[in-house]
Amino acid sequence: MQDINYDSKLLEIHKLGRGFIFNDFSGRAPSGREYNILHNASCSWILKCNTNVHKLFFEDEIEAIEWLSTNRVSNWKLCGTCKPSLSLIYSNPPIKPSPSLETKGLLKS
Ligand SMILES: [Zn+2]
Repeated sequence: MQDINYDSKLLEIHKLGRGFIFNDFSGRAPSGREYNILHNASCSWILKCNTNVHKLFFEDEIEAIEWLSTNRVSNWKLCGTCKPSLSLIYSNPPIKPSPSLETKGLLKS
């Protein structure tokens, strides 16, 4: 994770088009659910942004999800324009509890 402190750096990351840019508009405030937005680095909105609002750069989705789930919990959302694909969020169905082996043992005796 890197802070993006300069507009020139923001543009550079956008041009490279790799990774994710997080617009940390509301920080930890609950309104972040609406205003803290995760973009693909290549998103066209990045050209309309500037670093007056705190920005963060994540190289990959693991880094992005780890940081967001720790530091912003649910106070953020995905950009509706570039729709970053975070397969880790959606491809991990909850693990079903396995049948208890102890119960089976009791039935036998
Ligand atoms: Zn976007």
